[in-house]
Amino acid sequence: MPESHRLFKNLETNVVHAGESPRRVDGAVVHPVFQTANYLMEDADSYANVRYMRLNNSPNHHLLARRIAAIESAEKALVTSSGMAAITSTILSFVGSGDHMLTHRALYGGTQNFLDDDAPALQIDHTPIDMGDPSGWEAALRPQTRLIYVESISNPLMEVGDLKAVVKFARAHDLVSVIDNTFATPVNFRPHEIGFDVVVHSATKYLNGHSDIVAGVATGSKEKVERIRHKLNHLGGALDAHACFLLERGLKTLAVRVQRQNANALQLARFLSGCPEIRRVNYPGLASDPGHERARALFSGFGGMLSFYMDSDERAAAFLERVRIPLHAASLGGAETLVVRPSRSSHLGLPPAEREKIGVTDDLVRVSVGIESAEELVDDFAQALGS
Ligand SMILES: *Cc1c(COP(=O)(O)O)cnc(C)c1O
Repeated sequence: MPESHRLFKNLETNVVHAGESPRRVDGAVVHPVFQTANYLMEDADSYANVRYMRLNNSPNHHLLARRIAAIESAEKALVTSSGMAAITSTILSFVGSGDHMLTHRALYGGTQNFLDDDAPALQIDHTPIDMGDPSGWEAALRPQTRLIYVESISNPLMEVGDLKAVVKFARAHDLVSVIDNTFATPVNFRPHEIGFDVVVHSATKYLNGHSDIVAGVATGSKEKVERIRHKLNHLGGALDAHACFLLERGLKTLAVRVQRQNANALQLARFLSGCPEIRRVNYPGLASDPGHERARALFSGFGGMLSFYMDSDERAAAFLERVRIPLHAASLGGAETLVVRPSRSSHLGLPPAEREKIGVTDDLVRVSVGIESAEELVDDFAQALGS
């Protein structure tokens, strides 16, 4: 009789406890790091039972997988060595040579680069579509279309697509639906609850929350996650045991961090949208935002990411020079507020005319709102804007 692992009703409890064994290791309150690559053969009656760190089956991997499945409302979860390892292993598990995918027209840069630079050599094709407008999706379908890939909140304009329509469309056309839920986090939105097949994350961001490891996650049904695990084992994207330990530690504060980030971002977005120096704020929590109604219907919070336009390249550059609390750095989802110009970081590889077309102009500033005092953040943004 296998012992049952701890599981509770609410996410706030599950981020701290889900998946723990009632039998603590030598009485330890904290799950220790199993810093060993291999294990004795004693339980291995088949290859499937061989325990080895690349096979993602150490006690650290197992605890994380149970906890993440609980908080994403999934049957199964898998941790990976990076968000990109989760994304590429997932895509390659469900599409192969000759297949076609539909993708959000503005994707995370690494995902887009994989689709543009590596997928063609494998004869995997994709068509970008507008996730906010289902009327164009049918025309983009091909007999070889197998998968539809979206992000819950897109970067850097924070667009929220018609996610319910994506699930319905995927079911009607027998496509695997995959969503990158990094920006929303399971605190605000759990895509499996509306029917998405696979959820992926860069756990580097909010799930870990401390800007000190790179990690990823894929969740879904037992059958789908087993397929991804098989691929991941071959591609080699296993998460190191010590990084597993740090991710588990980070997860414990996920709910309190994200709730604080939701509140801080909303306060900052409201302040910024009243500033004459700012042309426009992108944040799904603002009633004026095009994605607001959709986000309000599905999300319990609007996240910690926002962006805004300052009308001139020089003023955006001057703002980044003058701001005192935020750090000028890429990446996101940590305790500290970060500011960056996407035209100078994530979208630097695109020609200026292309950037213009998708709204990533030189005056766009993206903010990953941290857990500092909202009052101090607002004051600091005000002085940096010169208002
Ligand atoms: C950072 C990020 C990724 C890639 O994750 P890594 O952990 O850097 O490999 C994927 N999707 C989104 C939305 C991200 O922000």
